[in-house]
This record gives sequence, structure tokens and C-alpha cells, in this order.
Amino acid sequence: MLPKFIFQAEENLVEKPWGGNYIARLKGIEAGNIGESWEFSAHPSRPSKVAINGVAQLTDLIAKFKDEIINGFEEFPILVKIIDANEDLSVQVHPSEEQAKMLGEKDHGKPEAWVVLDADEGAKIYLGFKEDVEPEEFRKAIERNENILEYLNAIEVKKGDAFYIPAGTIHALGRGVRVLEVSTNSNITYRIYDYGRGRELHLDKAFKVLNFKKMNVEELRQKPKRLDGLMRCIDAPFFKVDRIITDVKISKDTFQILLCVNGKVSLKSDSDVVEVTMGKSVLIPAITKEYEVEIEEDAEAYVVSPAKI
Ligand SMILES: [Zn+2]
Repeated sequence: MLPKFIFQAEENLVEKPWGGNYIARLKGIEAGNIGESWEFSAHPSRPSKVAINGVAQLTDLIAKFKDEIINGFEEFPILVKIIDANEDLSVQVHPSEEQAKMLGEKDHGKPEAWVVLDADEGAKIYLGFKEDVEPEEFRKAIERNENILEYLNAIEVKKGDAFYIPAGTIHALGRGVRVLEVSTNSNITYRIYDYGRGRELHLDKAFKVLNFKKMNVEELRQKPKRLDGLMRCIDAPFFKVDRIITDVKISKDTFQILLCVNGKVSLKSDSDVVEVTMGKSVLIPAITKEYEVEIEEDAEAYVVSPAKI
């Protein structure tokens, strides 16, 4: 029998040259240079372990209890991360599902979205081209090692800002930005520019998927929408992200991932009661059709729901 709320057995943290100590602080652990925390990953490159009668790989658990966990989906459809850009992240692009297939990738396309959890004063993200760009001119600028950020929309961000990043959109997190990132369950990144850090670039593939048209950032900026007890931060084709505002009863027909980044929330189903504290997340499988959330004052928690398109 599956529990109504499933916790991770251990953290799934990724050290990065650009990582900082935000994630360690959030999770109350000692660690340096943590760039990413993967929350309930079912991606084969880095699957999370869950606590269920001992320890199990999430991918194995889903294989065994597919309908009970991910009802309505053939495979686990999303990837949820916390990212700490303590330094500028590489400028990159991800393919669409169609482009990934065309390029012979074994992984999926990757639209993604960010909810800013924390940002230093003046911190920026980069999203799409400021003007229409000639691919050849842009490629030459990269090869001449010019400052290619000048081609991109630079947006100062603050806590609570949220953006959708369609596949094909050039993007980067600037230093001092920490986000909740939700994407489809894919790990394909084509790096375009890396501030001379010496990591491999993937220009040929990137140039096959880049959208070189001028991008209006306001079209990608998510307008928060008030729902019953929730604030919808991200309304994207493959997933939704809601911030919990007040105590609320949530009904659903597949799984969700709930993350708490400050304070504490309590969750109650017909049979189980659990607490989710700062830095923790919980997988709420499809069998939990309804649950109540009780949120402490000042607590900050998000619910990620996959969506069919
Ligand atoms: Zn990305």
C-alpha cells in the first residue's frame, strides 16, 4: 500500500561551479557550491530516492505503482528543481519535443518555467533576443567572444516574479537569482556561452533550435492569478505552479509535488497527516484524491501539478 504522502529518503543535490549556499541553508545542511536540488526526479540521469518501507528509487516505485502515482500519464512528465545561481549561469537553449527527435536525442524537449524565490538587489535574468537577430552574425559574435548578453533582454527580477520559457528561447539566470524551476522531464541543454569557464558549448545543435526573433518579455512574464486559497504563479502548457496562500482543500486526479521554502505546512488526507517544513518537499500520489493544507503564517509553499496537452 502506498502512503498518501511520499517523502524523499535523501536529498538529490548537484554541485556546480556557479552554485552557492542558498540550498544548503534552505535544507539546513552543511554543503558548499550546491547549484541545484532535484525534487522527486524520475529522470534516469539522476533519479531521486524515496522513503517507502525503506528506500526505493522513485523510477522503480513508479514502474510498480504507475496508475496509483501518475494516473493519466505514461511516464513521469515533469522535473522540479531549486536552482541557486550564485554566479552567472551559462546562456543556453533547450529543444522542443519535435526538435529533440529531429536531432536524434533520446531525451525529451524542454520548455521550462521559473518562479523567483529570492533575488539580490539588481539581479537579472536574460530571456530571448532584444531584436531580430541574424544567425550568422550572432554566431560570429560568439566566436569572437563578444559580450553576447547585449543581444538579449535583461530583466531585473525580484522575489515572486515568474516566467515561462518556451523551447527554443535563449535564456540565462544571472548571478544572485534563486528559482523554483519546473520543466518537462528532460536534461537536454545546449550551451551557447559560458563566460569563458571552459565547459563545452553546443553551438551546432543550439543554432538548429534557437528562435532568432525578437522576444517580448511581457508575453513570457506570468501574471499571478488568484484561485481558491492559491495563487497561480505559472500557467504553462505542461505544468502549473500554485503558491499556497491560505488553508485550502485540494482535489486532484493525478500526482502533485509540494515544496515548502519557508515555515511549515501540514497536510491531511482521509488517513494520513504529515508536516512539510522549510526545505522539504512531498510527492502526493494520484491515489490521494483530496487533501487539506494548513499553512502557518509567513510560510511559503508551492504546489506543482503536471498538465496534459
Ligand atoms: Zn534552461
